[in-house]
Amino acid sequence: MSVLQRPQPRPGVLAIDPYVPGKSKAPGVARVFKLSSNETPLGPSPRAIAAYHAVGEHLEDYPDGDSTALREAIGRAFGLDPSRIVCGAGSDDLLNLIADAYLRDGDEAIHTTHSFLIYPIAIRGSGATPIAAAEKNYTADVDAMLAAISDRTKVVFLANPNNPTGTYLPFDEVKRLHRGLPRHVLLVLDAAYAEYVRRNDYEAGIELVATSENVVMCRTFSKIHGLAALRLGWLYGPAHVVDAINRVRGPFNVNAPAMAAGIAALQDSAHLETSRAHNEKWRAWLEVEIRKLGLEVTPSIANFVLIHFPHERGRTAEDADAFLTQRGLILRRVKAYKLPNALRMSVGTEEANRLVVAALAEFMGRK
Ligand SMILES: *Cc1c(COP(=O)(O)O)cnc(C)c1O
Repeated sequence: MSVLQRPQPRPGVLAIDPYVPGKSKAPGVARVFKLSSNETPLGPSPRAIAAYHAVGEHLEDYPDGDSTALREAIGRAFGLDPSRIVCGAGSDDLLNLIADAYLRDGDEAIHTTHSFLIYPIAIRGSGATPIAAAEKNYTADVDAMLAAISDRTKVVFLANPNNPTGTYLPFDEVKRLHRGLPRHVLLVLDAAYAEYVRRNDYEAGIELVATSENVVMCRTFSKIHGLAALRLGWLYGPAHVVDAINRVRGPFNVNAPAMAAGIAALQDSAHLETSRAHNEKWRAWLEVEIRKLGLEVTPSIANFVLIHFPHERGRTAEDADAFLTQRGLILRRVKAYKLPNALRMSVGTEEANRLVVAALAEFMGRK
């Protein structure tokens, strides 16, 4: 039977390279340290776990389709109007809904060369064309992003800090990007790692959303809050964007255990601070120790580091990945992010961090 005689997906769908998640297994190795998906080594707040279990007693009930209590908790935590918040099944859900609502065949949307892979997937999924703007020093470049704008541009995605590079744009630069955009172009600030950032010149997006009609900020409970398994994210945007997203989202796109755990997580600021402090300490340690081995590490403000390997037989990222995996240390290959000779390592427990540095020392030292 000819291909034309069967149902056809929209143009662009089959051009998508499916997302490949971080590896989680090392065959034949008893103890595995998964440092490939930027999960927190400290786990969620015990209060979030308790709240999750409590909801398990009532799985027969539909969740609140408006995530009201969760939006109110987020509003209290960040000083935001809950009516300007939309919750989603992870921020991936929200990024896809943005593409769904604002892009169609023939449109273009901009992201940067080494940015999060969900952007091109979401863009193509809505029939539009992703345009990758070049980066400088593994960092988004506002001039290149502005130069990439055409009559067809409808959305600009910026991960700030970016995954997998760990770099960021200071608020001045984000504002310069925003000023350079036509008013009908939607700027999406994806601040999945904002809680880890301690820089005076950084702003996650709240101020720009509050003062513009064409900016949204996406956040997640998957990273510092340790709730990746539950799929929970949120966006803060202008009322007209919130209205549009609420029309296209699933009516029950956030499940009840996720909502309860998210609310409890927001209330445990001590756990958040512990996670932040752990990350700060061990990210700095990893950068120093890995550089001592002669490897280049991109300066990161997030909960992971990007390690660059030599272009030398036996010492490449692929070789390092195989070497580390044999020892149960799973980092992330980032070939799909156009970084074929680098590995991304999530900051882990003290034990995992020390094991990786010791293994890398052995890897670099072997003949
Ligand atoms: C991890 C991550 C997210 C969050 O994804 P969820 O769907 O909320 O788990 C969003 N954006 C970036 C850049 C990320 O790295």
